[in-house]
Amino acid sequence: MRLSRYFMPILKENPKEAEIVSHRLMLRAGMIRQQSQGIYSWLPLGKRVLDKVNAIIREEQNRAGAIELSMPTLQSAELWQESGRYDAYGKEMLRIKDRQDRPMLYGPTNEEMVTDIFRSSVKSYKDLPLNLYHIQLKFRDEIRPRFGTMRSREFMMKDAYSFDLTREGAEHSYNKMFAAYLRTFDRLGLRAIPMRADTGPIGGNLSHEFIILADTGESEVFCHKDFVDFDIPGENTDFDSVEGLQAIFDKWTSLYAATSEMHDEAAFNAVPEGERLSARGIEVGHIFYFGTKYSEPMGAKVQGPDGKEHFVHMGSYGIGPTRLVPAIIEASHDDNGIIWPASVAPFDVVVINMKAGDQACDDTCELIYAALTKAGKDVLYDDTDDRAGTKFATADLIGVPVQIIAGPRAVANGEVEVKDRKTGARETMTIEAAINRFVA
Ligand code: ATP
Ligand code: MG
Repeated sequence: MRLSRYFMPILKENPKEAEIVSHRLMLRAGMIRQQSQGIYSWLPLGKRVLDKVNAIIREEQNRAGAIELSMPTLQSAELWQESGRYDAYGKEMLRIKDRQDRPMLYGPTNEEMVTDIFRSSVKSYKDLPLNLYHIQLKFRDEIRPRFGTMRSREFMMKDAYSFDLTREGAEHSYNKMFAAYLRTFDRLGLRAIPMRADTGPIGGNLSHEFIILADTGESEVFCHKDFVDFDIPGENTDFDSVEGLQAIFDKWTSLYAATSEMHDEAAFNAVPEGERLSARGIEVGHIFYFGTKYSEPMGAKVQGPDGKEHFVHMGSYGIGPTRLVPAIIEASHDDNGIIWPASVAPFDVVVINMKAGDQACDDTCELIYAALTKAGKDVLYDDTDDRAGTKFATADLIGVPVQIIAGPRAVANGEVEVKDRKTGARETMTIEAAINRFVA
């Protein structure tokens, strides 16, 4: 992508409305724009990051055996009347009428709709277990939307729903998502700790929130500090192994970790003082097992091996991609801007032409740009005629992991400078060596 033809509206000044660093940096880097309270457009740079986050979430959901589909944002009120949640949900639900005066709603979550899909076609235990997920916009009319996309009214959610014949089966399905979540957040460059949680309006009896520790987090959390160094399940985790996944779950729930709603002061005080961590956190995922809470009122049942009909045991599993993007920034930035983990960076590398219009600089940059693009890298080429200082500031602000800087003096020697955004380390090398770093 040539910056001269891209759309990346950088702000020079710090936006006054932004109270936390991620919100400030997302606005300054031209990643998002608020359209009305708590409702955002994702501008091209932001969209790239969001897409990369979603791609990782999707890979890990698929690896754990979940199957992707897509459900609509608008739902009929009838479904929610069946479960009893139409009246119970309260003011967070945006209720709308269509031209025939039929009550509709903008989905805040999808338990009812997915249960309807399930009951319409699954009739036998032989088709279980089943886990269906989508990545879709949700709307919750939050009383206090704030911090940009961290707590917005319209937001994106990956929500998965599992169906099993028995409670034991459902616990295995829960453990699959538990392990998939550990892997997902790790790949996003985050340390998320699963904490016992309240089940809220989703309901149910087994629930964990995945929390990232951050001073700007809205939740108060308490946990054993060893969680910070626990091992993440590997790529070759066998998601069909009941014992294997139970062992992962048992290990990750063996020490104290709870949000304030579930906090047990006495149990926490039993943790040796030097190992207690009481901090603030950001909830980036939440998983629930709720048994037959929806399958019973909505009549979602299958025939079991005993020939009888059984209401299915369900769970639901949410991750907030539009919250994760600012959460990653909260965890990874410095005074100059964002520092993206390579896995979600909007571009792999930025090529900075320090003297656009100078033949040697132009030729060198074009050569590098073409070679890296051909190698399948996402390259941003700053070919604008801005001052070098402005270009450096922009590259640092948008947080691309590697900068290749081509200035007249180095280029005359057949060299460029390669800068690591995170460490700030700069290295002069031949043009070929700079290319090979990415191609190799
Ligand atoms: P919170 O406690 O932060 O209000 P919640 O518990 O109501 O969230 P869940 O129903 O558990 O949210 O939703 C699953 C995930 O969706 C959350 O873990 C979070 O990552 C994301 N999410 C929920 N509400 C919002 C929001 N208003 N803005 C952005 N992301 C959200
Ligand atoms: Mg929650």
